[in-house]
Amino acid sequence: MGLKEDQEFSRTACERLIIRFPANLLKKESAIADRLSQVKLSPLKKLEAVYELLGEIGAHIAPSTPCKKGCSSCCHYGVTVSDVEVQYIEARTRHKRLKQMLPNEDFHGQACPFLKENSCSIYLARPFVCRRHHSLAPTPEWCAPDKSAAGDFARLESSELKKAFDALRVGSPVWDIRQVFRSQ
Ligand code: SF4
Repeated sequence: MGLKEDQEFSRTACERLIIRFPANLLKKESAIADRLSQVKLSPLKKLEAVYELLGEIGAHIAPSTPCKKGCSSCCHYGVTVSDVEVQYIEARTRHKRLKQMLPNEDFHGQACPFLKENSCSIYLARPFVCRRHHSLAPTPEWCAPDKSAAGDFARLESSELKKAFDALRVGSPVWDIRQVFRSQ
């Protein structure tokens, strides 16, 4: 299929996902920003709650996406991280941030330092943007770094989840993951 047909495919897939969105998940998503703003939990525990809900939403999307292990196109895009996400990676893996951040640049097309043999080596600690990326196109073709700017595709947005996440990174600089960690 061509670009227009595949964009239409993703729009229909997105509509279908919205219609079939489980009521309990919808309730959790609508409440998460308020809930996390009221509970006494450490920022890392709150981030974990955001990640857990993203995982549940990801499971709902899974049958409708061509994303799968071994496809690493989006690991060659810019990958933003904030301080709380860096802390989470440091707490859950053996990786530590660089003492001196590397300069920012256009990293599009460069592999993430955690990409090993086409798989994420810090999968359970990966940042928010990695967890949120789900293609709804019929194939992964349009995710290739040299094609990713070809056109917009519909995607499922989770506004309250994003709000909960934004509250955790307020005041933090936003880096690209390649500025903060080196490949080992
Ligand atoms: S952290 Fe993992 S999922 Fe995210 S871009 Fe890097 S290798 Fe890919």
